[in-house]
Amino acid sequence: MNGSSRFVIVGASLAGAKAAEALRKDGFDGEVTLIGEEGERPYERPPLSKQYLRGEEGPDKLFVHKEGYYEAAGIELRLGQTVVSIDVDGRAVGLASGERLPYTSLLLTTGASPVRLNLPGADLEGVHYLRTMASSASLRAAIEGADRVAVIGTGWIGCEVAASARMMGRPVVTVEMAQFPLQRVLGPEVGSFYRDVHTEHGVEMHFGVTTEALVGSGTVEGVRLADGRTLAADVVLVAIGVAPATELAEKAGLDVGNGVMTDEYLESSSPGIFAAGDLANAFHPLFGERVRVEHWANARNQGPAAARNMLGKRRPYARVPYFYSDQYDISMEYSGYAPAWDEVVFRGDVASREFIVFWLNDGRVAAGMNVNIPDVSGKISDLVASRRVVDKAKLADPDVSLAEV
Ligand SMILES: Cc1cc2nc3c(=O)[nH]c(=O)nc-3n(C[C@H](O)[C@H](O)[C@H](O)COP(=O)(O)OP(=O)(O)OC[C@H]3O[C@@H](n4cnc5c(N)ncnc54)[C@H](O)[C@@H]3O)c2cc1C
Repeated sequence: MNGSSRFVIVGASLAGAKAAEALRKDGFDGEVTLIGEEGERPYERPPLSKQYLRGEEGPDKLFVHKEGYYEAAGIELRLGQTVVSIDVDGRAVGLASGERLPYTSLLLTTGASPVRLNLPGADLEGVHYLRTMASSASLRAAIEGADRVAVIGTGWIGCEVAASARMMGRPVVTVEMAQFPLQRVLGPEVGSFYRDVHTEHGVEMHFGVTTEALVGSGTVEGVRLADGRTLAADVVLVAIGVAPATELAEKAGLDVGNGVMTDEYLESSSPGIFAAGDLANAFHPLFGERVRVEHWANARNQGPAAARNMLGKRRPYARVPYFYSDQYDISMEYSGYAPAWDEVVFRGDVASREFIVFWLNDGRVAAGMNVNIPDVSGKISDLVASRRVVDKAKLADPDVSLAEV
């Protein structure tokens, strides 16, 4: 690649920023343009439901790179600009301003955005979504003055915000249509663990029930459930999942289905256009299927992996998915990919709040989660990657090292 090439990255968040950094680290000396519609330079989102939301950390802790980095690295960072089209044949992107920007190779890292609640009252004041720094700051101010916070949806973000709101001293009620929090990923065995943790911290949890409407006049006053009850709340967080931001790719005719479909090199159906992070539904060589991961480590690692493949390195992205979550004094890390499983094995005592849990398929570890036990996620990841049939008695025995299992 030489100085006359221009690589354009659409989406200036974690995946995009790490991709731009990787291009420079790998010696690319052409133009790099990173375009993002938010006003802030790229930042990390995990603290938005934790330390930043609670006001324990300022924005300076969030940024992916120090101020001045992009200029020093020769990366053209265009903030507050939206890409509205891709001219695949002409190799150019179109911006909302009307500008047309040619590219040699294109990386899409447009991420995901919260699924909106499509119910009566959803537009009332006091109803929040959480994705950006600004939305976290506004939720913080609302929680600080709240009589009671309602959280609709108890996935990761819903659970973390419920925990943060309790840590901020506010009463919290949650509404979930499944029987347990985090049920889709963790199942009932571990979902019940999180239910108990939240209940012990004073969260009033409702399961197996859907929301019918948000009620109030002008400002939200409560959440009406399908069973007829109304839960009083003057602040509501809607946390019912995110949808990949595929609009651009779809309009450009790229293969899209639960994200932008890519091969193991993170290249889309259109040669020279790559995707990474929350947006990418990437073929995973280890699992033999496409996987879309909505987590920090995936964005952090896939961005650079895509960048290197844009440079022609052709290395498949085969990392074992990983994520973490902090709620109250419970820190967990999850390594693997288990959309379904046929067995759950615990290692250690759940009541002690220091344990590991494994999800197995045909005797192989599909995923494992360590709770309040540091420095084991690498070993769990190795077990997943090995695809070995494991000795379950050893797996369950904390006195046997994971390497021996
Ligand atoms: C509150 C919160 C807490 C989280 N906590 C954790 C956690 O504890 N652990 C964990 O593993 N993960 C966590 N995550 C998930 C993690 O933050 C995401 O996986 C990660 O941000 C994905 O990065 P990304 O770069 O792929 O996309 P995003 O972060 O979604 O960024 C995409 C960017 O592209 C921009 N964009 C979109 N369309 C356009 C366009 N057309 N033109 C220009 N710009 C565009 C968007 O404005 C956005 O800035 C959390 C997420 C949130 C919201």
